[in-house]
Amino acid sequence: AEEALRKTEKLAAAGRLAASIAHEINNPLEAVTNLLYLLQTHPELDSTAREYVSTAQAELARVSEITQQTLRFYRQSTFPVQTQVAEVLDSVLALHQLRLGSARITVERELDPTVALFGFSGELRQLFANLIGNAIDAMVGGGRLIVRARYGTGRSLRGTWCEGVRVTVSDTGTGMSEETRRRLFEPFYTTKDATGTGLGLWVSDEIIRKHSGTARVKSRQGEISGTTFAIFFPKDGLNGVRSLSNDAAKEAANA
Ligand code: ADP
Repeated sequence: AEEALRKTEKLAAAGRLAASIAHEINNPLEAVTNLLYLLQTHPELDSTAREYVSTAQAELARVSEITQQTLRFYRQSTFPVQTQVAEVLDSVLALHQLRLGSARITVERELDPTVALFGFSGELRQLFANLIGNAIDAMVGGGRLIVRARYGTGRSLRGTWCEGVRVTVSDTGTGMSEETRRRLFEPFYTTKDATGTGLGLWVSDEIIRKHSGTARVKSRQGEISGTTFAIFFPKDGLNGVRSLSNDAAKEAANA
C-alpha cells in the first residue's frame, strides 16, 4: 500500500509538472498562432508559401490541443466527493447524443441508479468520456454501445478480492490489433493520425490508479469484433489518496 501511495505521489508530481509545462507553452503558442495568422493573410505571400503556413497552422493547432487537454485535466483535481456514477454516465452519453445518432449507434444502459463512488467527480467524468468517445470512434459504420454500472466484487490493486463498483463500456467496433492492445495506455500512442492525441487512455489510466481502480481490456478483431473496458473501483480505494488530496488542497490554499 505504501508503494502504491508513493506511486500516486509521483504521478501527482508528474501531473503538476505537466500542467506547468503546458501553461508555460501556452503563451508563446498563442503568440506564434497569431503571427502565423497575420502571415497567412499577408497580401505579398505567394500560394506555395501560403500552403506552408497553413500546414504549420494545422500542426500548431495539434500542439495547442495537447496543451489544452493537459491543462483541462489537471485543473479539475480538487477534492473527492460522493459521485453518482449512473448520473455521470448519463450526462456523458447525453453530450454524445448527436454523434451517436448520426453514426447509427444504439445505446444499451444497465445502470444501477444507486451506485455511488467516493472520488474526484470531474476526473471520473473525463475517464468515462474518454472510454465512451473511443467506443464511438471505433464504430464508424454503426453498432452497439453498452454501458454498465453496478456494485460487485473484484480484485484490488493488491490482488485481493473486495467489494466495489464495476463500470463497463463495450462496443461492437473495429477492435484492436495486438500492438494497439499492448500500447494503448502509452502517452501519445494513437492510431487516429489526424484526430487523435493518444492522451485519452494515458490520462484515463492515471485517473483509474488515482482511485485505486483496475482496468481490464478485452478486444477482438475479425468477423465479430469489438472492445470491452471493465473498470473496477474498490470501495475503500481512495483511503490513501484522501490525505494526499488534503495536502494538495493546502498547497492550493497557500498558493
Ligand atoms: P486517441 O483516442 O486520441 O487515439 P487514446 O489514448 O484514447 O487516444 O487511445 C489510444 C488508441 O487506442 C486509439 O488510437 C485506438 O487505436 C485504441 N482504442 C482505444 N479505445 C478503443 C476502442 N474502444 N476500440 C478500438 N480501439 C480503441
